[in-house]
Amino acid sequence: MSIPFLDLRAINGRMHDEIQAAISRVLEAGWYIHGKEVTAFEQQFATWCGGGEVVGVGNGLDALVLALRAAGIGPGDEVIVPAHTFIATWLAVSAVGATPVAVDVHVDTYNLDASLIEAALTARTRAILVVHLYGQLADMDAICALAQTHTIAVIEDAAQAHGAELHGKPAGAWGLAGCFSFYPGKNLGALGDAGAVVTRDAGLARQIRLLGNYGSQKRYEHEVLGTNSRLDEMQAAILQVRLAHLAAHNAQRSELAARYLTRLAAVPQLGLPAVRDGMKPVWHLFVVRTTARAALQAWLQQHEVQTLVHYPCPPHLQPAYQGRIAPGAPVPVTEQLADQVLSLPMGPHLSLSQIDRVCDLIIQFFAGQS
Ligand SMILES: *Cc1c(COP(=O)(O)O)cnc(C)c1O
Repeated sequence: MSIPFLDLRAINGRMHDEIQAAISRVLEAGWYIHGKEVTAFEQQFATWCGGGEVVGVGNGLDALVLALRAAGIGPGDEVIVPAHTFIATWLAVSAVGATPVAVDVHVDTYNLDASLIEAALTARTRAILVVHLYGQLADMDAICALAQTHTIAVIEDAAQAHGAELHGKPAGAWGLAGCFSFYPGKNLGALGDAGAVVTRDAGLARQIRLLGNYGSQKRYEHEVLGTNSRLDEMQAAILQVRLAHLAAHNAQRSELAARYLTRLAAVPQLGLPAVRDGMKPVWHLFVVRTTARAALQAWLQQHEVQTLVHYPCPPHLQPAYQGRIAPGAPVPVTEQLADQVLSLPMGPHLSLSQIDRVCDLIIQFFAGQS
């Protein structure tokens, strides 16, 4: 039994007829940019996000960049970012000319450690760009309270957290803006690149629309130096199909994660993801920690179980950032995670018996180690 990490062909294949119908609808309409499919998806996704206005954009990185730009963040400003994240979080800050300031994370939730933020604030800090990594929200109560005290903005990188909630409040609804990616492998994935920003600030939404459409609201009138970053009709039509299945897919992920958590609790050598009170994760990834990562990964591969590492090298150690950021506070947890994290197969393409197979193999591996 071969167990793939992710199988988009299988996941999208089950929606084949619905996706085909969505594509035909766009083809028949003959209208491909800024039309009724985008408007319909924006409205449906806004409901999903607990209200506000959704602006479709080209991809998740653009969602972050446009939200930061619309919030007036630019050269000379500092933005707090988690040290442990996908590099897009940092690149968005760099893209607007601001400086990312790394703060370490909790070893068990993998998300920003709010108690370390205060020490990283300076007179130049303008925002906290918080990431809801692997499908769980960061400690938003503490982070939002801190931001309010210091009158700085909170912007959410919710690219891995479509539908995740903390105390019943969804990802994207906490900060000034919530930024989503619909990259094919995300919980809500398009058949190509796509992204969106959700915000309750109508002025900010207008500014993001403007920036993403050549700085123009009225054809050939350009109010600001904009760019081209638009969600297209084809992806918006496909995303409506995927959105209709998102609750079921997230529920499936939860069932698989519960099985992993129950069965792997028997392996003391393995660090499991912690779920704080009030959290409803959507398990974009199921990430464990082990000092025997390379050997465990090889053992699983040998038994046709595919795993991945998210992420083997944190942004501050990437060649791209050498000489570009001031050495900040040390981030020992992030550096430990880079050496120890392993993402197990997760997604609606998997069955509970496949999860059991992965757990059996992991238990066997560690039994052989001791
Ligand atoms: C995927 C991802 C992004 C970027 O999204 P793209 O659509 O690939 O540009 C940003 N942040 C995080 C945490 C992500 O996982």
